[in-house]
Amino acid sequence: MRIAPPSANRRLTSLLAALSLAAGTPTLSMAQSTAPTITVATRAGQPPVLAPWAGPHGGVPAFDQVKVADFKPAMEAAMAENLAEINRIATNAQAPTFDNTIAALERSGAAIERVEAVYGVWNSTLNDAAFSGVARNMAPRMAAFSDQITQNAALFKRIEAVYNDPATKKLTPEQQRLVEVRYKAFVRAGAKLDATAKTRLSQINQQLAGLFTRFQQNVLAEEADSVLVLKTDKDLGGLPASLREAAKSTAVTRKVEAAGVITNTRSSIDPFLTYSDQRALRKKAWRMFTNRGDNGNAHDNNALITQILQLRAERAKLLGYPTHAHLRLDNTMMKSPEKAMALMLEMWKPAVARVHEEVADMQALAKKEGTPADFKIEPWDYRYYAEKVRKARYDLDQDEVKQYLQLDKMREGMFWVAGELFNFAFVPVTDVPVYHPDVKVWQVNDKTTGKQVGLWYFDPYARPGKNSGAWMNAYRKQERMDGQDVTTIVSNNSNFVKGKDGEPVLISWTDATTLFHEFGHALHGLSSNVTYPSLAGTSVVRDYVEFPSQLLENWLPTPQVLNKFALHYQTGKPIPQALVDRINKASTFNEVFATTEFMASALIDMKLHLAGDKVIDPDKFERETLAELGMPHELVMRHRTPQFSHVFSSDGYSAGYYSYLWSVVLAADGFSAFTEAGGPYDKAVAERLRKNVFTVGNTIDPAVGYRAFRGRDPKIDALMKQRGFPMAGAKAASPTPAKKPVGKIKSAAGVKRK
Ligand SMILES: [Zn+2]
Repeated sequence: MRIAPPSANRRLTSLLAALSLAAGTPTLSMAQSTAPTITVATRAGQPPVLAPWAGPHGGVPAFDQVKVADFKPAMEAAMAENLAEINRIATNAQAPTFDNTIAALERSGAAIERVEAVYGVWNSTLNDAAFSGVARNMAPRMAAFSDQITQNAALFKRIEAVYNDPATKKLTPEQQRLVEVRYKAFVRAGAKLDATAKTRLSQINQQLAGLFTRFQQNVLAEEADSVLVLKTDKDLGGLPASLREAAKSTAVTRKVEAAGVITNTRSSIDPFLTYSDQRALRKKAWRMFTNRGDNGNAHDNNALITQILQLRAERAKLLGYPTHAHLRLDNTMMKSPEKAMALMLEMWKPAVARVHEEVADMQALAKKEGTPADFKIEPWDYRYYAEKVRKARYDLDQDEVKQYLQLDKMREGMFWVAGELFNFAFVPVTDVPVYHPDVKVWQVNDKTTGKQVGLWYFDPYARPGKNSGAWMNAYRKQERMDGQDVTTIVSNNSNFVKGKDGEPVLISWTDATTLFHEFGHALHGLSSNVTYPSLAGTSVVRDYVEFPSQLLENWLPTPQVLNKFALHYQTGKPIPQALVDRINKASTFNEVFATTEFMASALIDMKLHLAGDKVIDPDKFERETLAELGMPHELVMRHRTPQFSHVFSSDGYSAGYYSYLWSVVLAADGFSAFTEAGGPYDKAVAERLRKNVFTVGNTIDPAVGYRAFRGRDPKIDALMKQRGFPMAGAKAASPTPAKKPVGKIKSAAGVKRK
């Protein structure tokens, strides 16, 4: 549920993402004074991956011509070309201006951006043995390359001069914003440090890039290497027909002689834990999944985490921040880790209290079923008994719901929503190359003018070498820097399990929600209407970027979508209203588990990065911190530390996993703008949303954009109501008492934006 790590496909990635990995090659030399002044190294015989994108739709990546062996030479050539461009900007004899410095930077780096876009696709979806060798080699070099740009003193001097120039105040608001964003990103990346500190900083960034790559590859290996083999039909006990089929066909594709195979990814494990009536196997599956990266073998991530945390702490100090958390939060809506912690703790206590209630209900149900007197709900029982309680109390069977959620129909439903809210039409195209036969492409047009606004690539299924989870990626950003419209290319990636050939893929309600979530990111990219690519689409601060995506989740349960698109896979009949009512009734029940497992990860992330340069033993830290927080024994973190890729496979979401929580505050509050008006498809509210949130990218301060959309600053009330949590007395604008009140909640300053 994320946008791709900042290393991929972002123009001058490092300049903007400040501490992203990206970029680098020691062989091109570390010191900016020796930056090569060669121009484009390759023309004749250059690898196809380096070439400008040609073909229909404004040019598309030539995925069909990619050779893994080409990545290294292509990246080396593209980095050299970019450094030459940077050198020309930095040594320009004319006085620094917006155009010859800031806009010139925007125009530079086209080749590296193209190569990185394709490299990012291989890194996240086709990461086989050959590619992983390339990635291990290239990651530190790209980090060094990035530092060569941010540490170029002559270049920074020019950026600073433009930043301080009174003439800058006369530029367009977007240009002024661009100057500020560029300047601050350089400062955060160490542009003001002395030479010794810069050298050390660059060493740290390169070391980190190498560690991130190893971390990610370890998680991938752990997922690929271990599976749960279901030996007999008894081992399939409790599984609904669709899961049995999937397990059987996995056994066939993996060539395992067994009744079924469960792979070690979330999309396979979660349903197994929900339905399997074989407790010993549930325990085995749960252990296999939650111990990824924590098995004391060659793929163990604990030592890497300790090193990453040490290096991050040292880097933060070098840059003048007390901790990595303070450094990361500097460029966010939240501004400080203390405020983020306060927000999380405000939600944490009522969430935990609700978990205890749920567990008590499960325990009672288990007793009724005749479990032994000493039976205690364990983490591998939670989903199984939660499902039973859900059935008993809300008469809601997730497998029954699933029969109405066909992947293709849900996709059509998303397209329809995009048509209603954003005036987009999706037309399938077959004239562009793809990197895997599963990938399909659509041209996205403005419904009124018919003009192309972008392309949408969809890579839905799990396969070895593909990162688990779901994410959005932008291969090319929207811009019109030189007067001509450059349309965006975005992609959505998921890990659905393919069923039998020719049969519709049925997905869970949670998976359908995730589908809408990622599509929200895609729409954020597709709606972009800015001049400069650095500010386009999803290039907003980390704790705002999840707002459009979380918001879009709200359109799945609308009657318009369900009646038209939630059709039974056999009868074609729409989902019955009675079932929808039961889904709605059970919705807060589902949220408790999700909120708590999520927040446990967010709190650990923040606390790890507030610990400073203390040497951390991740296992011990996780155990002790969770105990201090009063983590319910029956639950596990959504991502345990040794597999927490958001945080350790790049700087991306480090000290930033809380962003999802802040974004859900915004999303709940934002959606209530619709329900308070004419409903989810209110045209006027949709237009305000489009105009002030989806089209503006990072051209305005997000707080200003949100206010223009909502008419006021965000409030936490709508979220507390949505999740069924009690409100803190006086703070509640529209309190929703929980069924059973669960103690007082501390009021937290900083939850509401000023
Ligand atoms: Zn997301």
